[in-house]
Amino acid sequence: MLAMNYRGPQRVRVSQKPMPEILHPQDAILRVTRSCICGSDLHLYNGNVPDTRVGSTFGHEFLGIVEEVGSAVQNVKVGDHLIVPFNIACGHCTFCKQGLFGNCHESNPQATAVGGIFGYSHTAGGYDGGQAEYVRVPYVDVGPVVIPSGMDHDDAVLLTDVFPTGYQAAEMGGIRKGDTVVIFGAGPVGIMAAKSAWLFGAGRVIIVDHIEYRLDFARQYAQCEAYNFRSLGDPVVFFKKTTDGLGADVCIDAVGAEAAGNAMQTILGRKGMLQGGSTTALHWAINSVKKGGIVSIVGVYGPTDALVPIGNVVNKGLTLRANQASVPRLLPKLIDHIMSGRVEPKKIITHRMPLEEVADAYHIFSEKLDGCIKPILIP
Ligand code: NAD
Ligand code: ZN
Repeated sequence: MLAMNYRGPQRVRVSQKPMPEILHPQDAILRVTRSCICGSDLHLYNGNVPDTRVGSTFGHEFLGIVEEVGSAVQNVKVGDHLIVPFNIACGHCTFCKQGLFGNCHESNPQATAVGGIFGYSHTAGGYDGGQAEYVRVPYVDVGPVVIPSGMDHDDAVLLTDVFPTGYQAAEMGGIRKGDTVVIFGAGPVGIMAAKSAWLFGAGRVIIVDHIEYRLDFARQYAQCEAYNFRSLGDPVVFFKKTTDGLGADVCIDAVGAEAAGNAMQTILGRKGMLQGGSTTALHWAINSVKKGGIVSIVGVYGPTDALVPIGNVVNKGLTLRANQASVPRLLPKLIDHIMSGRVEPKKIITHRMPLEEVADAYHIFSEKLDGCIKPILIP
């Protein structure tokens, strides 16, 4: 079969790989029909995720038709067209039982933090991903659901990650009616967080980025205010002024290690000591939220754990909430938002390319070229 093949930082191509096989009675093999590239894939692409092995296939946002099922599979049958959450979740470990499907223990027992994720290095279990013609789906009875009839498959594929992640960002923010919410990052996740913030009753939603076409898109699609941080002077001062002088009620970090990577040199001194600088989205979020406020973090950071200005967190009495989205927990609610017409995630898809053009697709998305918000690969 054809599959995306990682060759090293910023080098991906499509190549022939062996067909996946059923390895466990709860597995299924799917023929992939749509597969997106995510901002999270860019951390892998740029070589920033430990133990990302040459030859691996990325892709954790896909739909597919069931070709074969293992002997213990009960809820899914050959021919079903599935939405597959990016979390690989066993459904019965202590974390899955709490609804923490992103922290499943059984799917990634070596790790102390994240559960298994499709196509996300050996730190997330070493599973091959869905940027391929076929993929093995473990625990297929647990997370995946059949695409509801009448649902556009472009909407469905965004239920595998970015809509749930944006929604959970807003949910973790504990948004109350009338709150001012500031979101850092106008990528697919930040844009879906902005859209979701309204669903929780926000009174004012502001998004921040430095890419003008994304800010324009966010203004139109999520009907929020949008600012280029390069023209704000000190964003923290700006947000204080534009709120009530006290700061935002809720700040959301939908950037992650991109900004952290750029800012590491500024923040970390010669021996890795924290120097105090506030150039990252996470610093801006912590410093822009009001005292007693909530900072909700869905941006992915990997091991860069020296970045939190913890003194400010303590002195301001902040609550930090963070996680991988728990997609299976959120699916029923978000399916309802789509079927009722309240949210149309498919509008963020700007590029549709054959799997064979995977290298171009990564390049366009990574470099933010050609108005790209969300690219989708069609095997
Ligand atoms: P993306 O790369 O398309 O978007 C990130 C945006 O942040 C870009 O538009 C970039 O210009 C902007 N940005 C960079 N530095 C900034 C700064 N200092 N302030 C404001 N904006 C800044 O990625 P995406 O697909 O939208 O994903 C965003 C983040 O969410 C990534 O870190 C990704 O790994 C993470 N993510 C997390 C989960 C989860 O479950 N927690 C799921 C999906 C994605
Ligand atoms: Zn993703």
